[in-house]
Amino acid sequence: MEDLEIVCPACGEASLVAAEDLETLEVGDVLECEACGAYLEVVSLDPLEVEAVEEGLEGFFVDCPRCGHTFEVSEEEEGEAVQCPECGFNFVPDWSEVEEEDEEW
Ligand SMILES: [Zn+2]
Ligand SMILES: [Zn+2]
Repeated sequence: MEDLEIVCPACGEASLVAAEDLETLEVGDVLECEACGAYLEVVSLDPLEVEAVEEGLEGFFVDCPRCGHTFEVSEEEEGEAVQCPECGFNFVPDWSEVEEEDEEW
């Protein structure tokens, strides 16, 4: 696999996604544009396509303690219980930890 360029829909700048990152990349993952800081959600892997995620609403990712499914929760839900879309399990994520995990890039 080779490095791929993605073009930020917000500012038009191309960002390079390293081949090693591509291997773990999944639809729904969020990358951050190096040029403008916009959050880009992966909507397709082949070809690689991204969509700008609404500004100001930072996405957090949590792992379901029951089934291990990783899913996105919004900043608005901070402090509240969330429901796993995969198995329906309700839990309150460790929000302080969730914020620190913002190193997808
Ligand atoms: Zn950008
Ligand atoms: Zn689950």
